[in-house]
Amino acid sequence: MQKTLIILKPDCVQRRLAGEIIARFEAKGLRIAALKLIQVDRALGEKHYAEHAGKPFFEGLIDFITGGPVVVGVLEGNEAISVVRSMLGATNGVAAAPGTIRGDFSISKQNNLVHGSDSPESATREIALWFKPGEVV
Ligand code: ATP
Repeated sequence: MQKTLIILKPDCVQRRLAGEIIARFEAKGLRIAALKLIQVDRALGEKHYAEHAGKPFFEGLIDFITGGPVVVGVLEGNEAISVVRSMLGATNGVAAAPGTIRGDFSISKQNNLVHGSDSPESATREIALWFKPGEVV
């Protein structure tokens, strides 16, 4: 079974949408393999978003992801990576299709509620970055 990392970003937690969004993933059939609420520091935020270093929105993105607690988790299931990505919808909430998480709850490029790993390589890297091996069960 494939595993993927999700981050319910600070906007999601602040808007009290974490439970509703986790419920969508569970209703789809994905299993929670790890879950925790944490305050992200800049070092972790910069490592997670390293591929965007140097882009004009990078500093704002790090301010955003460190701006309040996040709920980070690992979901497991058949084709979990692409299933989660399709449930999230397009990056920009304005463009995301209705019925997707971002399409239903976001109208922003940056404050788009949830991160999901975009490839098996990213999932492996991100799960190791956010969780110790014993925390994923
Ligand atoms: P994520 O990696 O969070 O799942 P994604 O893969 O859909 O999102 P990326 O292109 O990897 O999108 O961008 C990472 C995150 O950076 C986005 O989710 C969003 O929060 C932020 N972001 C991306 N592009 C912009 C932009 N042009 N302006 C502001 N924020 C942006």
